[in-house]
Amino acid sequence: QLSSAARQMAMGNYAVQVDTRRSDELGDLAQDFNHMANEVQRSSQMQRDLLANVSHDLRTPLTMMKAYAEMIRDLSGNNPVKREQHLNIIIEETDRLTQIVNDMLDLSKLESGAQKLDYSTFDIAQCMAEIVHRYEGVSERMGYQIHLTLDEPCMVRCDESKIDRVIGNLINNAINYTSKEDKQVFVTQRNLPQCVRIEVRDTGDGIEEDKIKLIFDKYYRSENHKREVVGTGLGLSIVKEILKMHNYNYGVNSKLGEGSTF
Ligand code: ADP
Repeated sequence: QLSSAARQMAMGNYAVQVDTRRSDELGDLAQDFNHMANEVQRSSQMQRDLLANVSHDLRTPLTMMKAYAEMIRDLSGNNPVKREQHLNIIIEETDRLTQIVNDMLDLSKLESGAQKLDYSTFDIAQCMAEIVHRYEGVSERMGYQIHLTLDEPCMVRCDESKIDRVIGNLINNAINYTSKEDKQVFVTQRNLPQCVRIEVRDTGDGIEEDKIKLIFDKYYRSENHKREVVGTGLGLSIVKEILKMHNYNYGVNSKLGEGSTF
């Protein structure tokens, strides 16, 4: 049974399962085989979903760009105010497309192992202050407040630009998903005996418990996310890959209606 099932899998039939009733080594092997078949099937399904998502994500900005370019050609070309508005939409959509493509490339480089960590020693408190400072302009304009709580300076050894990316992605998400009423984001450094704990907290809707294990997956976006929320569905996968490369712990505590702490 096992060898016939293995041949079927080689031909692309991943739904195959074998009988696991035996309680000896063959029974164990059969169980492992079924587990393997399930995982292969899951991964093949994910690849199909991924292709569908990528095509969708790339097509949406392209459709918008074409529509507004046509509008300028046919309607607003001679109306400076409208033309400016339409051109700005085209520019925003181009930025969105660029961000998606860059995230895809970065993630694939991280996953393939082609990127090595560039270690240096620096003060994490100062690094966090600089990151939050970068967000101040944007967040003030949009009415968000980022509260930064730093501990004592602490020298860490890691890839600074990648850790910068991790913290930046988490702050981006916190801004995107925090409550639209109070618009608060909290960024905290805590020096513990063996490590530094960095928290990014928002007061948004939180994440359902059964979704928590999915959010770090590639292209996962909750079904009820809105298009105004700028994102590619890749931010947390990039976070995960970078932290895995460093062997750092990561995770999220979230309560529906109260917010999330990454
Ligand atoms: P994106 O934000 O571009 O959709 P991410 O990989 O950063 O992609 O996040 C994946 C999904 O995880 C989001 O679509 C959202 O559903 C959920 N998520 C991430 N951060 C938060 C947060 N702070 N609060 C609530 N949900 C979040």
